[in-house]
Amino acid sequence: MIIYGREIREKIKEEVARTAKNIPMGMVVIQIGDDKSSQAYVNGIKKFGDETGVKVEIASLSVGISQEDAIKHIQKINQDPGVNGIMLQTPLPPHLDIAVLVNAIDYHKDVEGIHNYNLGKLISKQEGVKPATPKAVISMLKHYDIPIEGKKVCIVGRSAILGSPLAMMMSSENGTITLCHSRTKNLEDEIRSADILVAALGKANYITPDMVSEDSVIIDVGINFDENGRMVGDVHEESKAKARIASAVPGGVGLITVAELFDNLRILSQNNQII
Ligand code: NDP
Repeated sequence: MIIYGREIREKIKEEVARTAKNIPMGMVVIQIGDDKSSQAYVNGIKKFGDETGVKVEIASLSVGISQEDAIKHIQKINQDPGVNGIMLQTPLPPHLDIAVLVNAIDYHKDVEGIHNYNLGKLISKQEGVKPATPKAVISMLKHYDIPIEGKKVCIVGRSAILGSPLAMMMSSENGTITLCHSRTKNLEDEIRSADILVAALGKANYITPDMVSEDSVIIDVGINFDENGRMVGDVHEESKAKARIASAVPGGVGLITVAELFDNLRILSQNNQII
């Protein structure tokens, strides 16, 4: 069975739009340079904002901006009371340090949930905003009533925005996690023995049918483009046909991620009202 993200996205969208009617919400997306691959994502954020009544502003900074000036810019946006959420679009030009810039964002406005403060809360299992893509993975499993508790979960990819926080979140849901990466030995065995496989490595069609078991649930997070410019996941279509349940690409986790970003904005805006 192939599973999709549209219904989940629509549900979150309704909730965000309902909240936006009562609480003014504003987000700034900081875009440095003009990386083509990130433009579609930024356009998607703008569209979701238009559809929900949330003000989204794109702050375009020049590709050559110094780290010091980028920090000053972020600090200025931090002070704007009309802005509830700030997001730093990646990839950044190589001379800029993403960890430094993300942590220059006021953590009350960290809409991506990747400031050290919010990642610390995630590890200590406190309430807070959580990274959008891992949230989207959990939402998808819950929406389709796929239990995580007691299951053997294999996550391939350990990035700071995706695989690593997802491992923490899946563990909080009482799954038993194996976090794989490019140096994992016997990756195929790890994947084949999993009840739930989350593929987040960024390699088109990498997970082939011989690697997956027929009982498995596969969540394909990968967004890649093949030689014809077609969007494909990290998991080969034949592997998805073999598995018990698998998520679509396109139309799966990617559809939910932007919605989860706005769900984080909703939480931050409501917290802001309470402070
Ligand atoms: P990164 O490049 O930051 O991380 C990739 C991870 O995969 C690394 O941990 C790397 O290991 C691991 N990896 C790479 N090659 C292999 C391999 N052959 N075997 C095992 N592990 C491997 O990518 P991101 O986390 O940013 O993104 C991953 C994918 O998810 C991409 O396709 C991206 O487009 C997609 N994505 C999708 C989103 C959505 O909404 N659906 C949102 C964000 C990203 P190591 O640490 O050892 O280098």
